[in-house]
Amino acid sequence: MLNVLNDPNYPDDETIAQAQKTIAETYGINTHNGETHHIDTVGTNLERDELRDTLRVVMEELAKYPCDFFRRNTIKAMHFVKNLAKYETEDIFKGKKIWEKRHIGGRSWWKLKEILLLYYPHQKKTDHPSMRGTLHHEITHILDGHERSKLDKKWISLHEKHSRVCGTYTGKGEGPISPCFVSAYGSTSPTEERAEFAEIFMLPQRHKEFLARLANAPKEAQLVLKKKYSDMKENFLRWSGGVMNDAYWDALLKE
Ligand SMILES: [Zn+2]
Repeated sequence: MLNVLNDPNYPDDETIAQAQKTIAETYGINTHNGETHHIDTVGTNLERDELRDTLRVVMEELAKYPCDFFRRNTIKAMHFVKNLAKYETEDIFKGKKIWEKRHIGGRSWWKLKEILLLYYPHQKKTDHPSMRGTLHHEITHILDGHERSKLDKKWISLHEKHSRVCGTYTGKGEGPISPCFVSAYGSTSPTEERAEFAEIFMLPQRHKEFLARLANAPKEAQLVLKKKYSDMKENFLRWSGGVMNDAYWDALLKE
């Protein structure tokens, strides 16, 4: 199937239909070109070649999970768009709120069991590293949805013990990154930190870079990051019904 998606001799329409059928049959996920009907989110539809390119990237990334992973965790739909933005309210004057438009890479609704992913046309040459990462990020938000409060508590207490080095979750995603957080955006909340961790787990190059960073991190930060890393490993093991074990990660890192 991936060969067909890469082969320019196959017409877009036929290839897209085949890819969507394969994703639906293999993973139980329906894929759509365009936005759903969420009141605070806007985006525009993809051209045929952009949709084809998106499906190629998505199929490559989904293939890293066990086939039944998405049925088991009830991820049912994915929507792909360009020019994705979310409207948020922001306090400008005392008590007065206005709508603020913010560009984002993806969204997920765990209750609706669906993901919205931004296609970056300008990234075609670099094979969509952000789109690949965001896909895993949003998948993890859905998986976290059911058990979030439990996981949040655990990760907050981890930071409280080491607050001298780590600080706490800032809620902003800006400024210098503490050595105990996986990324600046991860420092905004435990949920975002876990989603950022998932990106690292699923992308071999970034996974290797993280392990190298871990080896050179300050001692206290190393302790916190190692605990988060092993907790994420446990999460994936549970979410996959035992399939994503140490041997699975070893194999993925050899890619
Ligand atoms: Zn997120």
